[in-house]
Amino acid sequence: IEKTKSAESTNSTSSISDWDHDLAPIPRLQVVDEHQNFCDELPQYMKDWGLSDAGFNYDVVAVFGSQSTGKSTLLNRLFGTSFAEMDENQRKQTTKGIWLSRARGMHVLVMDVEGTDGRERGEDQDFERKSALFSMATSEVIIINLWEHQVGLYQGANMGLLKTVFEVNLQLFQNQKSKEKTLLLIVIRDFVGATPLDNLANTLKADLEKIWASLSKPEGLEDCKITQYFDFMFTGLPHKILLPDKFDQEVTKLRSRFNDPKDPDFVFRPEYHKRIPADGYHLYASSIWDKVLTNKDLDLPTQQQLLAQYRCDEISNAAFEVFNERITPYKSPILEKGQVNLELGKVMKGIREEALESFDKSASRYDQGVYQKKRLEMYAKLNIQLGVYFVGQINNLHKKAVIMFDENLQKQLKSTTYNFAHVVSTCLKQANEYFINGAKGKQDSKFRIHIRLTFLYTLAAMLPETDWSYSHEQELLTEDFKEISSKARTTEFKKMNKALEKQMETELADPIALELNQPTNDMWHKVIGTYKSTVSDGKKLLSEKAKSFDSSKEEVEKSVSDLKKRTWIVLRKKVDEELADNLLLLKLRNRFEEKFRYDENGLPKVWKPQDDIDSHFKKARDETLSLIKRFSKVDLSMDPDFKLESDEDFDFERSLTVLSEAKQIDITTRFKRESDAFFLEAKRSVVLTTAK
Ligand code: GDP
Ligand code: MG
Repeated sequence: IEKTKSAESTNSTSSISDWDHDLAPIPRLQVVDEHQNFCDELPQYMKDWGLSDAGFNYDVVAVFGSQSTGKSTLLNRLFGTSFAEMDENQRKQTTKGIWLSRARGMHVLVMDVEGTDGRERGEDQDFERKSALFSMATSEVIIINLWEHQVGLYQGANMGLLKTVFEVNLQLFQNQKSKEKTLLLIVIRDFVGATPLDNLANTLKADLEKIWASLSKPEGLEDCKITQYFDFMFTGLPHKILLPDKFDQEVTKLRSRFNDPKDPDFVFRPEYHKRIPADGYHLYASSIWDKVLTNKDLDLPTQQQLLAQYRCDEISNAAFEVFNERITPYKSPILEKGQVNLELGKVMKGIREEALESFDKSASRYDQGVYQKKRLEMYAKLNIQLGVYFVGQINNLHKKAVIMFDENLQKQLKSTTYNFAHVVSTCLKQANEYFINGAKGKQDSKFRIHIRLTFLYTLAAMLPETDWSYSHEQELLTEDFKEISSKARTTEFKKMNKALEKQMETELADPIALELNQPTNDMWHKVIGTYKSTVSDGKKLLSEKAKSFDSSKEEVEKSVSDLKKRTWIVLRKKVDEELADNLLLLKLRNRFEEKFRYDENGLPKVWKPQDDIDSHFKKARDETLSLIKRFSKVDLSMDPDFKLESDEDFDFERSLTVLSEAKQIDITTRFKRESDAFFLEAKRSVVLTTAK
């Protein structure tokens, strides 16, 4: 192939001897062998010939003609190929089959058909027809080789051959919409020149029309003209053996028609091209041969579509392999380890572009309808695969956003002066932004401009031109946020209420103790007063906190009524504590001592014999005992409107009772016993003073 390259510079003026000596022969391939098998080495040969990546930049020419009319000889001289030529001494038959080679210095595949001359030997024309079908389907230009002395012999063997060519062509192209033409280059061998070429051409044309008219044409094509399917070109070549130099000169001239696009008779005009990309040529050729063998209806448009489908699938699979390699490194971090990759959008965009580009590069040369359809399929498939990563990332973002929200919330709630509603909204904003930024994905600045311009793109998440959406996940996330913040609110609200309760307790403790230690007539009125002022302080605090918690009116009302009840319960507890047995007895004793052992001026009494200790004692004791009654029930006579709502677990009326009947009796008895001691002591002290 290297040597071939050096021969590229060969132009139409070079002589045939260029091919002869130094250059290594170009390998030839028996693409269909004598047993009619299609060989599987064609792809490798295409590579070796340097044509697999040629795209549309290659042409195909085939030769047709009776056996031993110097076809292979002509091809070798024209194209520098090395097809087998019949040995003049041995007259040995060359190997049957269809041979393929590359022309030296040209992007041209050359096809040499070796058949037996069935017509002359009376053998069947099966292979002739098959090879005609095959070469017509795969070549742009067909060289028809015939002797000058055969021209005008309408019944001659070549005419039968041409009939076959025409019939086959009609079969192949009957479904073609835009009629693609094939060029028939008719080479008249051993052209003497006595009859001008134009005359020979006219005779041949007339014969061809006759043959065309005699063909039975497919339905709908009865009136079609031969010129709708073929262009014709005629040329003559001198006798190779008698006029070797002349022959060489004419072959050189002829070559220019194949490799010089500026030649007015250049044969490879674009409209003849079969539009089979070089990387699909082997598949196309083998499937054509398959159809030829199985004798199925062979029409080229269908074949080209089938080829396009097959190749586009192959190309797409290859692109997918690369795609998978590129995306796999993201599998474990995102789909297994739950990581978030903020570059993921950009990464996916790059990988998708790469895959599509590699698909487009080869597939765009095939049937456009098929290519576009396969491209859409591939796009969808790519997006589906990438979508898995998108969903994974969205999931991970969701989880991370939840953790972020929760942690931030807890951290900020540790501060002593937080405003709950404010804290929640800050944390919510942060976590939401994190999620949405991640879900949208990092997009380059160009894309951001797109977002502003195109409504469609604003919907796209992470990767443009997908139908991906994160709105459902966002809804779920919002639900999670709601749950977390409402839990936190409940906890914080409880904490707040506990703190409030503590505060109420502290506020109540001293005044209550004080009132109960000085059990005046209006003792309970004062206690109620303390209660009222505590509740009103509590209300103030509550309404401040309500702002922080963004409480509703109902919630505030409920909190206030709870506050009233709880404060009352705290108060009653305090009263119970203050009036526990020992403390109550102490209070009674203090009062009793005050009355019995001290005089009006608060000085200790010194009993004299004339003192009526008995009635003093009785008075003091009765007065003291009357306190038990006072303590025993919250007296609302001075606060007739004071009332709290009762409910299932709180009975206001019952809460007014402080000491039960039994308790009162018990305390009375115990106090009486205690006071007896004072009485005795007083009596004893009189005896002592008298005795002095
Ligand atoms: P193919 O069977 O058509 O491929 O013919 P070959 O190329 O094998 O040649 C068959 C015979 O024809 C050989 O003996 C050649 O020497 C001879 N031959 C080749 N070119 C010419 C030519 O221009 N004129 C004549 N008369 N014989 C030729
Ligand atoms: Mg031959």
